[in-house]
Amino acid sequence: MKYQAKTKKWWLVLFLIIGSLVNISSIQSVEAEEERKIVTSFYPMYALTKEIVGDKHPVLMINSANGIHGFEPSANDVVAIYDADIFVYHSDILESWAQKIKHNVEKQEKSNVIIIEASNGLAMKKVPGLEKLELMEGKDESTLYDPHTWLDPIEIGEEAKLIAQALGEVDRDNKDYYLQRAESIGTQAQVITDKYTSLFKKLKQKTFVTQHTAFSYLATRFGLTQLGIAGVSGQEPSVKQLQEVKKFVEKYQVKTIFTEPNISDKASQLIAQETGAKVEVLDPLEADPHNDLSLLANLENNLQRLLKVLQEEGEK
Ligand SMILES: [Zn+2]
Repeated sequence: MKYQAKTKKWWLVLFLIIGSLVNISSIQSVEAEEERKIVTSFYPMYALTKEIVGDKHPVLMINSANGIHGFEPSANDVVAIYDADIFVYHSDILESWAQKIKHNVEKQEKSNVIIIEASNGLAMKKVPGLEKLELMEGKDESTLYDPHTWLDPIEIGEEAKLIAQALGEVDRDNKDYYLQRAESIGTQAQVITDKYTSLFKKLKQKTFVTQHTAFSYLATRFGLTQLGIAGVSGQEPSVKQLQEVKKFVEKYQVKTIFTEPNISDKASQLIAQETGAKVEVLDPLEADPHNDLSLLANLENNLQRLLKVLQEEGEK
């Protein structure tokens, strides 16, 4: 009995020693991981980066409100970017102000921030439809490219991989972790795409009208046709354009005009009134939706809403 008690004691000591060694090594590995401040431009970039990075590093967004198209960063925003280790933005087409920041970082060595243009590698499409008018009016060609890739699940998956790759180059210790998380976003994106492709295929009404031309990538992906009342950057339509939209609504028997949360819907309401269409909300996810859902889950909510409305319209 005496011998057994002694053995138990030794085991206890051994456990304590092993336990403390494990604790020390895990503390050391946490300490060894350098925290990097990541700043993103707006909600889709924030949501994707956050999902890839997990709890490894803090991620912030500088513009959580509506209005990424006309947005200019404040002095404090610029300081936050210079102060960060990594800055993720969508594209020179969308956040043209980022080019100036990039230029300053390169030339003046104001900051060591590493700048990631997340859509670099995605093929940006030209805007179909009414925007042809602007080309004839001699507008800047870059305004004719459509930045709204974050409203197509497949493009979200691709962009996630590009962000993970770029982050992995900066933070090599976590490269595999980032790539794995991006891979998982890509898999979920494919599941959502397959599900909605077959659902949208069955629709009789495949045409919809939105407040601004944000849903072209989504429409193309699912075999739908979108017409935006305002242009790709949310610019107000001319009287001539409004007349064209009205004709379009009547011709394609569109019964719903999709507006956006927290943005003036004057033009949409006017068309709805004149054509007898009702008004519903479809979120282009340009502002923080203030929920805990992923970007893909928020997009799926949009797809669900659009599907429901088009199904109802097809039945009439
Ligand atoms: Zn937009």
